[in-house]
Amino acid sequence: MHELSLAMSLVEIIEAEAARQDFHKVRSVLMEIGELSCVEVEAMRLAFEVAVRGTVAEAATLEIEITPGAARCPDCGHLAQISSHLSPCPQCGAMGLIACGGDQLRIKELEVD
Ligand SMILES: [Zn+2]
Repeated sequence: MHELSLAMSLVEIIEAEAARQDFHKVRSVLMEIGELSCVEVEAMRLAFEVAVRGTVAEAATLEIEITPGAARCPDCGHLAQISSHLSPCPQCGAMGLIACGGDQLRIKELEVD
């Protein structure tokens, strides 16, 4: 389950922010997950719950925002919105689209006390 190591590195970022901005409690976390990031949303929720134990984000509610995947077709140049790396081009049917967006995983917003 690679979500756990991802969640732990996100929590490290939150803790670093807490030290830098001097807050002691995170009320909510808005996490942005790209549709092409290969992260399972439900697995991430569970992993996050584990990762925040004993940290400033222990009591935080997690909100997840899914950003759609974007890719360009190498054959016809069409820019398509796709939900998987295996999606064919909707314009010409070619496979092997080149992802150019929606593969990020990041903390978008923190609400802190
Ligand atoms: Zn195409």
